[in-house]
Amino acid sequence: MTSFQYMCTTQIDFGVGAVERLPEKLQAAGFGRRLLVVTDPGLIEAGIVEKVVQPLHRHGYTVTLFDQVQPNPRDVDCLTGAQLLQSRWCDAVVAVGGGSAMDTAKTVALLARHGGTPQAYADGKRPYGELAPIACVPTTAGTGSEVTRSAVITEHSTHRKMTLKHEWLRPTLAILDPALTTTVPRQITAATGVDALVHAIEGYTCRRTQPISQAFGARAMGLIVRALPKAYRDPLDIEARSDMLLGSLLAGLCFGSADVAAVHCLAEALGGLYDTPHGLANAVFLLPVLKYNAQEHVAVHADVARLTGMASDGDNPATAVKKLLTGLEAWLQELEIPALSSLPHVSRGDSEKIVELALANNSTESNVRAVDANA
Ligand code: NAD
Repeated sequence: MTSFQYMCTTQIDFGVGAVERLPEKLQAAGFGRRLLVVTDPGLIEAGIVEKVVQPLHRHGYTVTLFDQVQPNPRDVDCLTGAQLLQSRWCDAVVAVGGGSAMDTAKTVALLARHGGTPQAYADGKRPYGELAPIACVPTTAGTGSEVTRSAVITEHSTHRKMTLKHEWLRPTLAILDPALTTTVPRQITAATGVDALVHAIEGYTCRRTQPISQAFGARAMGLIVRALPKAYRDPLDIEARSDMLLGSLLAGLCFGSADVAAVHCLAEALGGLYDTPHGLANAVFLLPVLKYNAQEHVAVHADVARLTGMASDGDNPATAVKKLLTGLEAWLQELEIPALSSLPHVSRGDSEKIVELALANNSTESNVRAVDANA
């Protein structure tokens, strides 16, 4: 008999217009009245922050804006955000943005309450307790960070991506409004969407998977594979945006109680070294890793082929896997995902460093097929 555990305590409000309900949800969840809104300059420019902050002002909340988040967020910026939270006496944190804003918000809440640097807490090194409550308003359909208990922060001095993981980091509230994602530029739509698919595939296939994660992952894969090309072609297609945001949420619920695996470990190594956008870094490693994994683990990848709609129920496992690999290749081409070799700064000489960093990532052990430097 299988034994497993599943945990997600985040309250979720999903739907077009959900952002208008943020003030009442904050109140019902017991958040204080002084909020630190954590975001990045792109979100201000796109008019998204205004859409979140206006209803808060109307309901009498005091808002302090911290808008210095950068993609692949940095330890030093988290320290600055924590100082701002303390100096303005904020009692709660609201993240508005993609994974970078959400992970920064989690880390800011941690450092403001418990001090130290992100490094001190990485990989579960230093224990801690309750934080200021965190609400997330995701504006990309990609990371699922709005429901996970992790934050990925880059160590500025070494370019190493560190993972902070603890139940205290899990947001209390997630407000998902698909209308906020219609302004995401096309390339970012494609890359973040592939990140969500990788969460679903790795959460479903990895060694730490379990039945609830697999149920979420199964549904996420079908949604994402169908909706992403539509959202990429027509950014204003609200049905496709809605399916993508739902797919990304479900993928977060999938890997959040399982793990990610080799694609993510390689992507984080690349992102740390060259600041490659996270979704793009995942997208370039997806096919090579799937080819490697599927050679040894045919049945689970035949499942993925059917769940993504790349193969049908009648296909035998070997045929299904073949269809998955060719189907995904065409899907990535439709999304105009570039090859690893054409990414700026990356050269063949870097492969050893990337592999070394990826192997040092704990999630490598979760990959369905064992990996070493020769894989
Ligand atoms: P991001 O947050 O870095 O955002 C990318 C860009 O998109 C930014 O320039 C931003 O301004 C812009 N943008 C976002 N929403 C927009 C909108 N609605 N309109 C216009 N522009 C918009 O990208 P991301 O892929 O969402 O997050 C990546 C980060 O998340 C990485 O650091 C990654 O390691 C981390 N991550 C965390 C988890 C987790 O569970 N904590 C999971 C996966 C990834």
